[in-house]
Amino acid sequence: MPLFRSIALALVVASAATSSPATAQSPSSDSTAALLSDLIRVNTSSPPGNTRGIAELLAPRFKAAGFDVKIIPTPDTGKAIIIARLKGDGTKRPVLLAAHADVVGVERDKWTVDPFAGVEKDGHVYGRGAIDFKGGMAVFARAAMMLAEQKVPLARDVIFLAEADEEGGGGYGTNWLAKEHWSDIDAEFALNEGGWIMKGDDGRVRYVSISTADKLSIPLTLTAHGTSTHSSMPRPDNAIFSLSRAMSKLSYYETPLNITPSTRDFFTALSRTSKPPMSGYYRDLVGSDPARARRADSVVSRDPLLHALIRNTIAPTIIAGGFRVNVIPGSAQATVNVRLIPGSDPAAIVRDVARVIRDSTIELSIGSRVYEPAPESPRTTDLYRALERAARATFPGAEVTPYLFQAGTDAGAWRSKGVPVYGIYPYPIDPDELTRMHGNDEKVSVASLEQGVAMIYRTLVDVAGKK
Ligand SMILES: [Zn+2]
Repeated sequence: MPLFRSIALALVVASAATSSPATAQSPSSDSTAALLSDLIRVNTSSPPGNTRGIAELLAPRFKAAGFDVKIIPTPDTGKAIIIARLKGDGTKRPVLLAAHADVVGVERDKWTVDPFAGVEKDGHVYGRGAIDFKGGMAVFARAAMMLAEQKVPLARDVIFLAEADEEGGGGYGTNWLAKEHWSDIDAEFALNEGGWIMKGDDGRVRYVSISTADKLSIPLTLTAHGTSTHSSMPRPDNAIFSLSRAMSKLSYYETPLNITPSTRDFFTALSRTSKPPMSGYYRDLVGSDPARARRADSVVSRDPLLHALIRNTIAPTIIAGGFRVNVIPGSAQATVNVRLIPGSDPAAIVRDVARVIRDSTIELSIGSRVYEPAPESPRTTDLYRALERAARATFPGAEVTPYLFQAGTDAGAWRSKGVPVYGIYPYPIDPDELTRMHGNDEKVSVASLEQGVAMIYRTLVDVAGKK
């Protein structure tokens, strides 16, 4: 869901790479756009995020294609989850394709088409979720169904999952699913939303980024205490002043660079598709000279997205204290949203904050995690390698790079159990289309959908087909 506009633009203006659109066509290539239109017509806006209609729409289609289909109800009757399994011979463990079925809501008056009509015009399918993530769901579903249609002999099960509650609308997302129905979604590895297949103005794919990790979001609360009393007799221990001093010190603090192997590769790819001077800064940022890296950081970090990819971030989001003009409150509180690079220790950042604010009267506490901590998924698995090969074959000349997602997805349910998850929005998009995601007139091109099916089908044949 996040907007990678700045990166996209950097790549668009700078690249001279010579990639060309895919030539591979799927045998049933006309039906992915039609399937996406059908999925968009089931309004799953969150809240409430009622996904039962998606399960009911897909179940007969998967059954007809020869899949074992299970609809999992949730305690919220509007929400259901569909799992469709195409059996392999069991010599290898399953591969899973996960797509969230809920979408964010719309500002309907700002759309030029009905966002829930699945309109196809000018070579695009329009509608809420076209990119995030019903487009991905349609691509994953078609690619999996093609395995059945082509009778590809499989060494492992291929599991398609359409899950609920990813967009923050309730408690029946993948963590719930993993807790209640793990055996149904257990796999050797999985695909989910995440990276981008980014096009330039000329329509050619510049790069394919495959996310291997998400940052971890945790709330950190700072509580200042003081004497609660009449405001006509102020004392030095005013909680609001104490908290303000601490927050002021924190505002000048910058966390150190933390470049993961994926981030290193990502900036190397960005460097190759950018013009000077930015190409040089991207290279220096991940190079071996710390002084050059620091200088590059000061330039690259002007872009808030890139800044967030290369360090833990600290952002105050809520402040509270006091209730009337003539009472000095006994406490004041600030909530800071901390976003951690995978592998960072939450306790270490609390210690950093304590050191920066230098006030032992202020209490620091970490709240419950928004997402489970999870290790970065390795690039050595058969799935990652198959995806990389398929991306290169489908989009010749494009850079293929892993990367760290600066926000969160629902992949933590698997990654936290050691199951690698790789993220991709499986269709070439351009910066304009990217800004429409979670925005108005969201759309995806019909040709991109077919290229995505070709890429994912190739990936599945490679990773799950009998050799
Ligand atoms: Zn999404």
